[in-house]
Amino acid sequence: MGPVVKSAYRNPNSDRSASRERFCDVEEDNSKNMTRTHNAKIVCTLGPASDDRETIGELAGAGMAVARLNASHGTPEDRAAIIERVQAVDAARDPPVATMLDLSGPEVRTAALDAPVRIEAGSEIGFVVGDEASSTEVGLSVPITATEVGDRVLLDDGRIETTIVGIDGETVRARVDSGGELGGRKGVNVPGVDLGLDALTAADRRELEMAADQEVDFVAASFVGSAADIHAVEAALDDLDMDVPIIAKIERAGAVSRLGEIIDAAYGVMVARGDLGVECPMQEVPVIQKRIIGLCREEGTPVITATEMLDSMTTERRPTRAEASDVANAVLDGTDAVMLSGETAVGADPVRVVETMGDIIDEAEASEEYAVLREDRVPDPGDSRTDVLARSARYLARDLGASAVVAATESGYTGLKAAKYRPDVPIVATTPDERVRRRLGLSWGTTARHAPFTGPGEGTDTVIRNAVQAAIGAGVAESGDTVVVLAGLMTELERANTTNMLKIHVAAEIVASGRSIVAGQATGPIHRLSTGDLADVPDGAVVCLSHGFDEEFSGETAKIAGIVDAHEGMTGYAAMVARELDVALVGDVSLPAEIGDGTVVTVDGERGVVYEGDLAAGPREP
Ligand code: PEP
Repeated sequence: MGPVVKSAYRNPNSDRSASRERFCDVEEDNSKNMTRTHNAKIVCTLGPASDDRETIGELAGAGMAVARLNASHGTPEDRAAIIERVQAVDAARDPPVATMLDLSGPEVRTAALDAPVRIEAGSEIGFVVGDEASSTEVGLSVPITATEVGDRVLLDDGRIETTIVGIDGETVRARVDSGGELGGRKGVNVPGVDLGLDALTAADRRELEMAADQEVDFVAASFVGSAADIHAVEAALDDLDMDVPIIAKIERAGAVSRLGEIIDAAYGVMVARGDLGVECPMQEVPVIQKRIIGLCREEGTPVITATEMLDSMTTERRPTRAEASDVANAVLDGTDAVMLSGETAVGADPVRVVETMGDIIDEAEASEEYAVLREDRVPDPGDSRTDVLARSARYLARDLGASAVVAATESGYTGLKAAKYRPDVPIVATTPDERVRRRLGLSWGTTARHAPFTGPGEGTDTVIRNAVQAAIGAGVAESGDTVVVLAGLMTELERANTTNMLKIHVAAEIVASGRSIVAGQATGPIHRLSTGDLADVPDGAVVCLSHGFDEEFSGETAKIAGIVDAHEGMTGYAAMVARELDVALVGDVSLPAEIGDGTVVTVDGERGVVYEGDLAAGPREP
């Protein structure tokens, strides 16, 4: 993606109309289609119903921020092809669409079967490692001999419940408490028991090799029990020279009791309610969800609420009321993202599900209750300087009536901190790093955009200017708006992740950029000249010369405040006059047609850019 963002989507959090960028030297890019955005982001699991290029594009347009690939189904080769399709969609539009590879982890599954077998309540069955299953013996993918008599073994999301009555060598014998039809490759849960399995299986390692080749944006680690499990995944990523954020799936009771260390170790967390509701008593899941989201909010750790959010829409056109409430409640809890699984992977109408989820999110986010909750639970800053600045940015934006918090971020750290404090204006996180841009798409309230840290002029000014232009391009700020800018630059002196700048800034849209010819700054109404006659030029005008202009000025040159010239030379006629008059001149630039005579612009001869409006006038009234 190029540095110039051409999107014209309307951010629902901003009451400004979308602003169109008018860089004179960049073609309009119509492939960046309109996209819905929300504070709470949407993660969609891709599958047979949604993994073609067209549907992925439609899902992105409907608001998908992250495409999840579930490694429990299909092959790594299939996933590689899907990831490429997602990346192609991302490259063609804003906002970003990231990819998340969800590893199977140390899961236990039943044998693959051609036809289901009946497991009768009251009967006794044996669990062995194997590829076959009957009504008396069920083959499993891994041994469960670390269990004890009295432990429960649950099959197929807990639909079939058994209790262990004995262990004979490699066979675990269990009484069937509630029976049912058992299909192939169904999940097996042994609540509260550490089966001694490695955090990563051989299959996971093969998946990671594929992920390294395809440059996935997130890796989700299943069935983690502790920070050590996250470190094991990290080590495997290191071996592959991969720097990919890890999302820890909380789906075991053990993980719930070690939440603090897991949140510290992982980039993000997923409330994986599917397995969680089997591993823990179902009635505990809602409170565990709230606790996890609350802790993640306090820490500024991205959190995804997952599974069965709009489950009935896998087959139906409308969700149940309870499902709508579930999505809204996760949003009110302050989750960064909500996730769809079967609804988008195998559902009847994946795009409609995402649109419906978007409608529910919008309604919750527009409510007074949401505003009050957000204002009431701003985390304390602790003693980190970045936190103090990001928290201040939140309150500054509110108290100044700013349009946005703009976070220029190299590693993504400053972007995450801006999101942590949940400001009530959009966050635009800009970064020169494409991977960071995609990753920040998962974060609450964050519009992530590419913006270089370099350009005409150097240093912090350039970083801020590019970041603010990206915010204008994203449609969240207009010329004359106040924005609060945070910058996290890894300078020579400050290699650590440190936000080192907070600035109140008046946004000014660059309408054209060219070459710095004569330094200085001038503001005035544009007046296009086709001849050298200055008689009609208003006092203090910025005169605009086209390529065809080849006359000398006649009349009062003192009326000229600045010059915008299509010619590029340092020694041309206009350059000589500008030097003599000591007025700013930007060369090698053509103003777009919509900047008509009388439009006030500011010519920045130092940086070679022309801004819309009067830069010195200060902020517009909010
Ligand atoms: C879950 O259990 O809720 C979950 C998201 O994981 P999976 O879909 O891999 O079972």
